Amino acid sequence: MPTHVAIVGNGVAGITAARFLRKASSDVRLTVISAETEHFYSRTALMYIYMGHMTYEDTKPYEDWFWEKNRIALVYDYVETIDVEKKTLQLREGAPLAYDILILATGSKPRSIGMEGEDLEGVQGLYGIPDLEAMEDATDGIDRAVVAGGGLIGVELAEMLHTRHIPVTFLVRESNYYRNVLPPEEATIVTEAIRGHDIDLRLSTELDAIHGNGNGRVEGITTNNGERIDCQFLGITIGVTPNLAVTEGTPIKTNRGILVDERFRTNVPNVYAVGDCTEFVREGIGYRTIDQLWYTGRKEGQAVARIITGDTRGYAPGPFFNSAKFFNVEYQTYGTIAPDLPEDQETLCWQHPSKPKLIRINYERESERVVGFNLMGVRYRQDVCHRWLAEERTIREILPKLEEANFDREFDERYEAALRAQYRERFPDVVLQA
Ligand SMILES: Cc1cc2nc3c(=O)[nH]c(=O)nc-3n(C[C@H](O)[C@H](O)[C@H](O)COP(=O)(O)OP(=O)(O)OC[C@H]3O[C@@H](n4cnc5c(N)ncnc54)[C@H](O)[C@@H]3O)c2cc1C
Repeated sequence: MPTHVAIVGNGVAGITAARFLRKASSDVRLTVISAETEHFYSRTALMYIYMGHMTYEDTKPYEDWFWEKNRIALVYDYVETIDVEKKTLQLREGAPLAYDILILATGSKPRSIGMEGEDLEGVQGLYGIPDLEAMEDATDGIDRAVVAGGGLIGVELAEMLHTRHIPVTFLVRESNYYRNVLPPEEATIVTEAIRGHDIDLRLSTELDAIHGNGNGRVEGITTNNGERIDCQFLGITIGVTPNLAVTEGTPIKTNRGILVDERFRTNVPNVYAVGDCTEFVREGIGYRTIDQLWYTGRKEGQAVARIITGDTRGYAPGPFFNSAKFFNVEYQTYGTIAPDLPEDQETLCWQHPSKPKLIRINYERESERVVGFNLMGVRYRQDVCHRWLAEERTIREILPKLEEANFDREFDERYEAALRAQYRERFPDVVLQA
């Protein structure tokens, strides 16, 4: 009998694990059980469906025939619980499903604000297709929306509503948008981009109360400054938290996420976990203990497939990468750029005088080792930045070659010379070797 690997969750982590298991073994039996949608779709493209740029079908990275052709059985059902002794999944609709190896890839869920009125109609987060459907209904013909919470999903929600010409008030706790993640210059660029799109951005402002209209629907909110704002839709985007429901009542250990080692093993034999739902049991594998990102899910899915099929090496994620778009500003980050410059680091930061463009490179003062890049409105090549970070290159080594990393179109203006000039001003005696 071939080994049966069951995977709970058809997001990027679960599906990547299935694809790479199939690549590694033609014998293994593969089943993916998931309850949100029948097929894998790109969660990061959710906003474009609402904005009318894409249909749901467009967001599917694989055609529907792909699964049968690759002998990956898809089960559209909800896993209620796991009997780890009998190695069986209890499904909401279907018959119990036995497995030999189990991979949990259950993703995240929006964080609750724990405030009265959170369950009113028109109050919601944005995580999946059901949220998008609820949002379609709740925003039809409304006069104003409020978005509370200044992370990446908050700004997406603001942009989505803006494209439907719905006036948006955006409440952000920090003194500048995303200042808890971005250095001040980057946070200011994004803050200006948000304001430039007529979003009523309220900085240093939090949600204090949600008001219903007496018929179960939201009709307004009050901020912590005591201001009442009438609205018929309230998006709550205060972050996501690992979805642990499937582990409840089982011996699988959790903390904030499902606890795994650097081979994605939980404390229960033959049960692995990958993607947003996981938390590494210890620091020091060169990565964050919880990392709820698309690229991370993909890397982890690939790694767990390799590990299950016999590779004894642990997970080595390599340098951190993320990208996002804040209205018209493209953002990329490689390595580690702290929101406030650590005392033992220096930064080279070039900013366009009038356009939302920025290049930042941080490096250690003593060793001059480059620790990270932030790019806004300029694109750098992932392979080059990753290589430089992995090889622990110094700022002196990379500055003469910076153009190698630039991924903008050939005829676009280049700005790397300005960074070199900044460095020379700081260290006039140093010769940068070409
Ligand atoms: C609006 C939005 C925009 C985003 N934009 C970006 C971005 O620009 N860049 C980036 O890096 N990341 C982004 N992310 C985060 C990224 O999408 C996630 O990190 C990634 O999708 C997580 O993948 P996953 O496979 O771990 O889980 P998920 O994609 O959450 O998939 C898990 C699936 O498992 C299902 N499931 C859970 N429990 C059960 C159960 N018991 N039974 C059956 N099915 C179950 C869930 O319904 C879900 O469909 C965004 C997220 C959102 C919500």
